[in-house]
Amino acid sequence: MIAHMNHPYTQFQPIQIQMAVDVAPGKDQLAVQVGAGLRGAVHGRHHSGALHRNVHQTPTHLHVLAFLSENHGNESIGGKPGATLTAVGEVSHCRYDTSREGVMTTEPQFYLRQLKAGRDFAVGDPVATNMDNFVYLIGDRVRRECVVIDPAWDVAGILACAQADGMTVVGALVTHWHPDHVGGPMFGHDVQGLSTLLTLHPCPIYVHRADADLTRMLTGVSASDLTLVDSGHTVRAGEVDIECLHTPGHTAGSQCFRCGSALIAGDTLFLQGCGRLDLPGASVDEMWHTLNTRLATLPADTVLYPGHDYGHRPSAPMGEVRRDNPVFAVPTLDDWRRLRGG
Ligand SMILES: [Zn+2]
Repeated sequence: MIAHMNHPYTQFQPIQIQMAVDVAPGKDQLAVQVGAGLRGAVHGRHHSGALHRNVHQTPTHLHVLAFLSENHGNESIGGKPGATLTAVGEVSHCRYDTSREGVMTTEPQFYLRQLKAGRDFAVGDPVATNMDNFVYLIGDRVRRECVVIDPAWDVAGILACAQADGMTVVGALVTHWHPDHVGGPMFGHDVQGLSTLLTLHPCPIYVHRADADLTRMLTGVSASDLTLVDSGHTVRAGEVDIECLHTPGHTAGSQCFRCGSALIAGDTLFLQGCGRLDLPGASVDEMWHTLNTRLATLPADTVLYPGHDYGHRPSAPMGEVRRDNPVFAVPTLDDWRRLRGG
């Protein structure tokens, strides 16, 4: 199998491509080739540092990051229309994801944009920049419909990102009630959020019922503006299903959203650590059950997309997170309570 991506962007712009590939069982040859349209770094998960046009690997799993930017960090790189990133070899599974252009997977209908506060929207807002929030657009790139997850800080800027991709926002999903995710007063700031969304672009807002009251109190939206959901509820964007998973702990009504191979986790889980458990409504015991039962059975190649950019990279497969994140290394609930103050 040759997995191949033709990148459709039309102008020179900062972009990040992630490619995760699994080598077929019993096979040991894989080459990742950077096509003529790209220049810059390709970092394999098992290949630290060096910059190569071709990365030859013999792992069972390779997570490739290609940062393309005219001026991003140390890697002076860029792309042009028609650029390609190609995996050649005995590949059993391959998916692409870009922060600028959405996830390109073996399901080309699936659309995902990871937007960062202060970088992609709320540019120049020092508080938003400092908070490192991620906002997500996820949906159906064929039908051109998506939902926005945790619209806050700069709603017009977020809507503009969707519009620039030719996507219509058909709903909003809330991971939890904290103001940096839904808007409201925080540290003396009045964070923009759901109420601005309803003014600029009225659409259904889906929130877990256990976080609904606090979401209303913080944002000022009314009960009739909120659609209350339980675990297992499915929201559709075009023909793409997004499943709500109740993952209490950080808040009582925290939820993750599962769509294709992506898990949008809010503050439930980061690449390192989990959401704070010392804030009102948090539960040390519930977080233990979330980590060890509710999220324990997700497939290893499910890609975790957290609610903040706290890691050394913006997303990672759950198999690696469960291996590397210390919150998964606590043997018993009693140990967890001792560590986290339950
Ligand atoms: Zn939070």
